[in-house]
Amino acid sequence: MFYTSTRDKSVKVTSAQAITMGISKEGGLFVPQEFPQLSKSDIEQIAKLDYIGRAKAILSLYLTDFSQEELDKCVNGAYAKGKFSSKAVAPIVNLGGNTNILELWRGPTCAFKDMALQLLPYLLTTASAKVIPDKQVLILVATSGDTGKAALEGFKDVDLTKILVFYPEDGVSEMQKLQMTTQQGDNVSVCAIYGNFDDAQNGVKSIFTNKEVAEKLGKAGVVLSSANSINWGRLVPQIVYYVSAYCDMISNGTLKNGEPMNVVVPTGNFGNILAAYYAKKMGVPIGKLVCASNANNVLTDFLKTGKYDRNRSFYTTTSPSMDILISSNLERLLFDLSGNDDERVKEWMNGLDKNGVYDVGEDMFAKIKELFDAGFCDDNGAKKAIKETFDNQKYLCDTHTAVAVDVYNQYVKVNSEDVPTIIASTASPYKFSKSVLEALQPVPQELDEFEISEILSKKTGVEIPQQLAELKSKKVRFSDVCEKENMIKQVFAMIE
Ligand SMILES: *Cc1c(COP(=O)(O)O)cnc(C)c1O
Repeated sequence: MFYTSTRDKSVKVTSAQAITMGISKEGGLFVPQEFPQLSKSDIEQIAKLDYIGRAKAILSLYLTDFSQEELDKCVNGAYAKGKFSSKAVAPIVNLGGNTNILELWRGPTCAFKDMALQLLPYLLTTASAKVIPDKQVLILVATSGDTGKAALEGFKDVDLTKILVFYPEDGVSEMQKLQMTTQQGDNVSVCAIYGNFDDAQNGVKSIFTNKEVAEKLGKAGVVLSSANSINWGRLVPQIVYYVSAYCDMISNGTLKNGEPMNVVVPTGNFGNILAAYYAKKMGVPIGKLVCASNANNVLTDFLKTGKYDRNRSFYTTTSPSMDILISSNLERLLFDLSGNDDERVKEWMNGLDKNGVYDVGEDMFAKIKELFDAGFCDDNGAKKAIKETFDNQKYLCDTHTAVAVDVYNQYVKVNSEDVPTIIASTASPYKFSKSVLEALQPVPQELDEFEISEILSKKTGVEIPQQLAELKSKKVRFSDVCEKENMIKQVFAMIE
C-alpha cells in the first residue's frame, strides 16, 4: 500500500516515509491511496482476538512495508500489560439501553491520546530507521493539553529522538499543565506560548516549512517530525479502537455482526472522528457519525451547511482539548469525499488560509449530510450532562465526554432510530477535576487541584488515577513562556 498527499496526488510514498515526514512537502496530509476492506467474516475473526491481536490485524493492512516482526514489536510494546489500567485497553461501559461509553483514557496519561501516542514512538523509530538511518528525529508538538503530555510520555528517552512541546499558556487545565511541566526524560522540552492552540499549531506548521530551520537542522543531522494527528502514525492506531469496539459489541451480544452502531465523538482537530469514518470506510457497520463540539462550534456549522468559517470568536471552555477553530484533519475527509480531488482541496485550504472560509459546494455537502450529524453544547450544557450522568447512571465523565453525552441526547431527541451507540470518552474526569466537581457541587475557591480531586473521589467513589495523584510531589522542570514569533528559537535551542 502507498500513501499520497491531499494537496498533490502525484505524491507516492510508503507508510514508513509518511510517518517519518509527518506532513507532505507542499503542506498536504498523507492518506492511503486506497482503503483495505474488512468482510463480515474478517470482523468475526478479528473479534476473537484481544486488543493487541486486533491492533496487529488492522495495522498490518496499512503498514505493509513493516515486517510482521516489526509490527509485533511495536504493538506488543505499546499495549503491554500494565500500561493501560484495563485489560481490554479500551473498555466499553453500558449506561443502560443503547448508550455505551468507550473509555479511551485508560493509558499512562489518562487521555485518549495515549491510544495512539503509546504506539507512535515505536512506529516512528521503526519507520525512520528504514527511511533516514542514523538521523536524529526532533518531534514538534502543538497541544491543546492532552497530546503534549501523551507525546512526552511516549517519546521520553527513546533513542535518536527529541521532543519539543508548545502549549497555550492560558488554554490548558492545571492538571494538564503540571503533567507537562514536570515531565521526566533527557530528550524532552516544554514551552508555553502567549496565544491559543491555533497559534501554537500554526507556529509549528510554519516551522516545518521554514527554509532556515531546514538548513540548520540538516547540518546537525536532525529531521523534524510531528506527533500531532496530522501524522498518519497517529491516525492509524485510532482506527483500531473503532474496529475493536464493534467487535466487543458483537462479542457481548449488543449487536449481531452486520448490524449498525452509531458513534458520537467529542471533536477538536477532527482526528478521532476521522478514524471512525475510516473504520466505516473499511466496512465496519458504523451508522451515523455524530460530531460533538463545544462553544467553538465551527465544525457543527460546517457539517450542517457545507461552509467552513473560522472568522468567529474563540472561546476558552472547560473542555480545552476541543478549543480549536482550524480542524486540520477535516482536509483528509474532504480529499476522500471529493474522490481524491487534490486541486479542489488545495483551493479550499487556500481559502481557509487567506480568508478563513471555504464552501465545499452542493455535491460534497450532500455526502457529508448523509454520513455525519453534528451538534454542540456550551459549558453549562456539559455541566448538566456531568451531573445527570452521575445522578442517573452513576457514571462520572469528564468535560469533553460530557459534551458528547449532551450532543448524543440532542441527537436521540430528534432521531427516533433504535441503534446501539458508542460515545467516545476521551479523558479521565480527574484531568479536569475542578470543572467536574463544579458540575456536582459548589467548589471553594482556595482549594488546589489535588484537594479538589480528593473531594471528587470521596463524593463519587471513583478512584483517582495514581499517575495524576503523584504529580503533587513532582518538581516543575519547564517554566518558559514565549511569544509565538519566537517558537523557532526554542527549536534551535534543542539542537545546540
Ligand atoms: C484531543 C482531545 C479531543 C479532540 O480529539 P480530536 O482528535 O482532536 O478531534 C477530545 N477530548 C480530549 C480529552 C482530547 O484530549
